[in-house]
Amino acid sequence: YPAEQQKMVDAHELIGKLYHHLLINTKEGADALEYLLSRGFTEEGIRKFKIGYSLPEWDMAVKYLKQRGFQEEELEKAGLLIKRESSDGFFDRFRNRIMFPLFDSHGKMIAFSARAVNPEDSPKYLNTPETAVFNKSSLLYNYHQARSEIRRQGFAVLFEGFADVISADQADVKNGVAVMGTSLTQDHVQLLKRLTDTIILCFDSDQAGLEASNRAGAMLAEQGLEVKAALLPQGMDPDDYIQKYGSGKFQKDIIGNALAWTAFKLHYYRTGKNMQNEGEKLKFIEEAMFELSQLSNPIERELYTRQIAEEFSISLEVLEKQQKQLVQVQE
Ligand code: ATP
Ligand code: MN
Ligand code: MN
Ligand code: MN
Repeated sequence: YPAEQQKMVDAHELIGKLYHHLLINTKEGADALEYLLSRGFTEEGIRKFKIGYSLPEWDMAVKYLKQRGFQEEELEKAGLLIKRESSDGFFDRFRNRIMFPLFDSHGKMIAFSARAVNPEDSPKYLNTPETAVFNKSSLLYNYHQARSEIRRQGFAVLFEGFADVISADQADVKNGVAVMGTSLTQDHVQLLKRLTDTIILCFDSDQAGLEASNRAGAMLAEQGLEVKAALLPQGMDPDDYIQKYGSGKFQKDIIGNALAWTAFKLHYYRTGKNMQNEGEKLKFIEEAMFELSQLSNPIERELYTRQIAEEFSISLEVLEKQQKQLVQVQE
């Protein structure tokens, strides 16, 4: 990094160490630590991901970093301080929050995502704003640590939240990464493509997670990656699942049973439809036939078409004819 940006990194490394110390060694951090442990974060996980705690004070970072030779203006640019509107001076952006450091692809600490400890505090997660070193749309959480595992295992697991990444890591799924609350971007896709050609999506099992899986998977597939989607029981996220059922079941039943992309698409089109209703049933079959008509592999196409033929007692010939028509309409 150029000097000015390196200083932003240095400020993060310093304050990040202090936050981490406050969480694991002090009575001020005891409640936050208790919260993390009670929801299943381990001491090892807390150390590996350098999780910390910011005090409920307005000027802890201001004082600590000024004493160490940083200017308030440069700390504001780094996203750590906020300028007061009414008077002179600056105050800490992050107060009374659990601090999750964010690292660049070389493992330099460049930003934070800070979780409220009190459920009443809003927003739940407060992120560093865009800075010269932090762009939330191109950062993948845990990329620097997961990189070698992704290469070794031949696939990456993409999560919706970084709490899921940490939980999975503790459950020995160490090839996980997450976006920072944004949609997947082309930058993310390129970062993943450098390491592997296979991605398993493991998003929250709610409507938002399903829609996000559909969009992310389409982008990844478009760029030539093989995509699978791991489905969780309704209403759960991967972290919830691991805490409830443990690491073995997560690896075997969820990651191990991830759906191939076409199977996921069929599941996606099915969701929310009442198959007892003729109109909705026909709509599903039409969407499914369109999806299958796009497949280039004839064996794969016949396999899925046969399943639908059997499920709805329609002849294979009729469905195949429908697919041909859909292809012709496109041409
Ligand atoms: P937790 O288990 O601590 O509630 P989560 O990982 O399940 O967290 P989700 O609500 O599923 O959190 O959100 C997924 C991701 O979206 C988070 O990791 C975070 O990056 C982002 N996010 C969620 N809520 C907010 C928010 N209020 N502001 C900014 N980002 C958010
Ligand atoms: Mn969610
Ligand atoms: Mn979640
Ligand atoms: Mn969660």
